[in-house]
Amino acid sequence: MGGDEGERPTRPCRWCDAPVVQPSSRWRRRNYCGKSHRRRFRILRAVLEFLDW
Ligand SMILES: [Zn+2]
Repeated sequence: MGGDEGERPTRPCRWCDAPVVQPSSRWRRRNYCGKSHRRRFRILRAVLEFLDW
């Protein structure tokens, strides 16, 4: 099995909407283009929770 798949599955980054190439395994998803965006999103969420959003 194998060969080139012309298109790799991508998802938009939750922070900046940049296309993020997904790893071949189904079990893991990458929602962010980089660690910094993931971290930012977590911080944002923590702030919203703190403000009782
Ligand atoms: Zn991003």
